[in-house]
Amino acid sequence: MTSSVASPPTLRAFFDDLFLGRVRWDLLRPFPTQDPADRAAGDQAVAAATALVRAHVDPELLDRTGVLPAGLTDALQDAGFYKLLMGPELGGLALSPYNAMRVVEAVASWSPAVAWSLAIGNGFGSGSYLPIVEDGPLRSLIERHVRAGIVSGSADTEANGAANHRRHTTAVPHGDEYVVNGEKVFIGNGPLARLLDVACTVEVDGVRQIRYFFVETDSPGFEVVTTQEFLGLKGASIGVLRFTDVRVPAENMLPASADEARYAPEIARLATLARTLIIASPSLAIAKLCLGWQRNFVTRRVMDDRPLASYEEIQRRVAETAADVFLVESVVAWGLLGQDRADTGPDLTAAKNLTSLACWRAVDRTVGLLGGEGIETARSKARRGAPALPVERFVRDARGLRVAGGVDFLLDYWSAEGGLEAWYSGAPGSFESTVDDLALPPRCREHFRFLVDEAARLGDVCARLTGSYGREELMARQRTVITLGGIARELLGMAVVLARAGSDETALLADIACASARVRLAGLWAQLDASDPDFAGVADELLHGTAFDFLTTDVITDIPSVEDQK
Ligand SMILES: Cc1cc2nc3c(=O)[nH]c(=O)nc-3n(C[C@H](O)[C@H](O)[C@H](O)COP(=O)(O)OP(=O)(O)OC[C@H]3O[C@@H](n4cnc5c(N)ncnc54)[C@H](O)[C@@H]3O)c2cc1C
Repeated sequence: MTSSVASPPTLRAFFDDLFLGRVRWDLLRPFPTQDPADRAAGDQAVAAATALVRAHVDPELLDRTGVLPAGLTDALQDAGFYKLLMGPELGGLALSPYNAMRVVEAVASWSPAVAWSLAIGNGFGSGSYLPIVEDGPLRSLIERHVRAGIVSGSADTEANGAANHRRHTTAVPHGDEYVVNGEKVFIGNGPLARLLDVACTVEVDGVRQIRYFFVETDSPGFEVVTTQEFLGLKGASIGVLRFTDVRVPAENMLPASADEARYAPEIARLATLARTLIIASPSLAIAKLCLGWQRNFVTRRVMDDRPLASYEEIQRRVAETAADVFLVESVVAWGLLGQDRADTGPDLTAAKNLTSLACWRAVDRTVGLLGGEGIETARSKARRGAPALPVERFVRDARGLRVAGGVDFLLDYWSAEGGLEAWYSGAPGSFESTVDDLALPPRCREHFRFLVDEAARLGDVCARLTGSYGREELMARQRTVITLGGIARELLGMAVVLARAGSDETALLADIACASARVRLAGLWAQLDASDPDFAGVADELLHGTAFDFLTTDVITDIPSVEDQK
């Protein structure tokens, strides 16, 4: 693997081609694998990270107190874990993106809150921009901070919504400086950070743009308003930040090739890796843990004198969870190891949902399978002498993965928006999909033929829709676009597990993953074809009228007062 996520793509994405009806099987097979030297480097880093967090972090205590152990951040920093991808000249570990993902995964399996800080620091931290920052004052500033071993983050979201295009934080030129004013919310590492890139609205050459400014947090006017708390991720340092007349040197503005910096291809590419570290790594970790917990529970329980493991439904649930782990692992491996074959950026964007939704399925299945033990805290189980599996804690941690970095349904929408673009921007050109692969095990071969047919069906639907509607008109039909994104995402999942299927147990897992995907696909197609009830009318009446007030009687709708409970 030689290219980095920051290098410009020279090929189309496998994911985008699905919208054209194409399955680029030649890209996926043989499935990319990590080369042994890189694997060995990753093994070493994973072992070191595992030892460090086991020594410094009591994850149950952290969950209960929400306070990071003293010295942890310094220990992680000293060991280079905030510089996973950077070279030794900056004190980094020079890991490949795949190994960085593995390190964050290992830490997340112990404490997602700690992993979150590493994922933000490595994915969105100031040093992550170095591949696109030229020599000059900004590069020197970032390198100086990185060498000093600081924690950093990226401050984009505001209280009116990350999905909004507007940013109310402003940067106004004043001599050789800009003056930054505004407030950011949900900023990972914000309360710990010494350097932050801050998304600001600024006028450049008379044009209103959104640009990132690197702000040192010891600047006068910078303030941590509060540290935020969430469902799960207790102890993760995420906060509200205020900027009042903060002066920032003009050279601290990150150059970008688009007016809205986050859409600049060079920055968007960095964001796909960041999202993978932040979302896919913990998703993989949690899904794997679920598999272990299911094993633990099912093998020790007997129901009506029969081992629980002998019941059909239980076997299905365990096997489906194993297939979900395989799915998550496969899409991440493809996205990070297949970069020499294709632009895997769109695939990694789709992987945000593929991984977090598969993780959520694994979690949900585990909760059901474990019954009361699925929602009982580990502490409570320990008190009564039951195995203290921390399922409940990870249930809380896992739900946020479907929100942070973009709410799941919007992610499908954005993915489809990218995939549909080829139909609007020019002739897709002709391409024959591989329609069969004799090397696949029989059941996988059948799934493969189904995949090719489904992709062709998706391509036909996209051709029809883009032929019937202009770009804006189609994008306004949000459920249609979201469903197209969901279909392509499921097809990507099928493709990567099939591409990884050999003549061993991988074929069994691929078979189950595909069978499950086909059930979900049936639901998605049904949605695309359904004649719509009056959703808009009901929503309008609900939101602005009184006709549906009968639906909310007999509940106390006052918002309880919240006292500061320190
Ligand atoms: C734990 C955690 C850590 C985070 N870390 C960071 C960080 O380090 N830096 C940072 O900048 N941000 C961070 N975020 C913010 C995160 O990226 C956002 O929470 C996420 O993108 C969702 O945005 P929002 O919460 O502002 O929701 P909003 O954008 O306000 O969305 C609200 C609702 O409106 C819907 N919606 C929005 N636009 C549309 C549309 N066009 N059509 C239909 N529906 C729409 C959304 O889907 C959602 O359901 C973090 C969030 C969390 C939870």
